[in-house]
Amino acid sequence: MQQENLKNGTKAVWGGESDPFVHDAATTPIVNSVTFAYKDLDEWYDVATGKSKGYIYSRNTNPTVTVLEEKIRMLEDAEAAISFSTGMGAISNTLFTFLTPGKRVVSIKDTYGGTSKIFLDFLPIYNVDVHLCDTTDHDELEMQIAKGCDLVYLETPTNPTLKIVDIARIANAAKKAGAIVVVDNTFATPINQHPLQLGADLVIHSATKFLCGHSDALGGLLCGKKELVQKVFQFREINGASLQAEPAYLIARGMKTLELRIERQNASAQKIANYLKAHPKVKDVFYPGLESHNGHAIAARQMSGFGGILSFSLDGGYELVKQLLPKLKLVHLAASLGSVSTLAGPPRTTSHVELTEEQRRLLGIPESLIRYSVGIENVEDLLADLEQALASL
Ligand SMILES: *Cc1c(COP(=O)(O)O)cnc(C)c1O
Repeated sequence: MQQENLKNGTKAVWGGESDPFVHDAATTPIVNSVTFAYKDLDEWYDVATGKSKGYIYSRNTNPTVTVLEEKIRMLEDAEAAISFSTGMGAISNTLFTFLTPGKRVVSIKDTYGGTSKIFLDFLPIYNVDVHLCDTTDHDELEMQIAKGCDLVYLETPTNPTLKIVDIARIANAAKKAGAIVVVDNTFATPINQHPLQLGADLVIHSATKFLCGHSDALGGLLCGKKELVQKVFQFREINGASLQAEPAYLIARGMKTLELRIERQNASAQKIANYLKAHPKVKDVFYPGLESHNGHAIAARQMSGFGGILSFSLDGGYELVKQLLPKLKLVHLAASLGSVSTLAGPPRTTSHVELTEEQRRLLGIPESLIRYSVGIENVEDLLADLEQALASL
């Protein structure tokens, strides 16, 4: 069914779910079957060789998983989409598909911790030339891309200081160099940002975060040009990082409310950022929706909402973080982000635990930084919670 002209909220509900399900079920059946039985050997052969549509074995394709893939494909306005067991599965499979020995990749220093590890620790083993630029230094990115590269990998907004990269500008430089552009869109989601429309070739999501939205399933998604997605699919089929039906169901179910959740989280995060910015005990607030944020102008251009994540530092050291965080009542002090419940934690314990204090300083991550992923609670309650906790310092 052609649903490309529908709006985001409608796509999130109906994407992949417009054809009748077995028993005329009105919601996606969880098909836990590993294998699919055939009575007709010719039909089996045709499906197995890709001549006709159907399912053979769930490492390759599965009806529940297909619903999720179709949902994200429609939301990102992509030609094709495939899924993975985790966000890191999506990232590693994509990078290892295209970055064979002798290739060169240009990326940024502030990618997600796991991604950064692939760049620094694993790709060099396979003789891939990795160059990581200062995240907001667009001139350096353009210069390194112009030197020649095969793949440009971006993430924006970044973790945990919400740095912003101009996707259209860097994608343009990459096109001239003949490089594939991959963007991790986890923080923004397709409700706030459409990298493919800005010139990216592939978009990646950790579906574990906002897409699922309830912290109860892990998954990864990749969408974009059919020819490129197909190559990664062939690698994943054999590499085996496939998503199972149960988490696919949970993620697809979570995604039905994606637009509602993101709209609320955008609005609440902006209010909380404004509040913290004016608070005397808060040193810096990092949120792209603040005019004082140095990526604000680019974010306002390329995003339709500034997202549900912000971070802030206290006027003091880590001791203050240790005092403040346990006082918050309406948060889980935990890793991860993008859930219906508010999550908070210090990057020195969560996303950037493996770095030294000096490495964090170089990335502009103060020891007193707190990442705050706004949930869908009523913002008045979250503000009151922050107020009482800050008052106790
Ligand atoms: C969490 C995250 C990942 C990794 O996803 P997993 O599902 O945990 O493997 C990748 N990129 C970003 C931006 C993330 O926040």
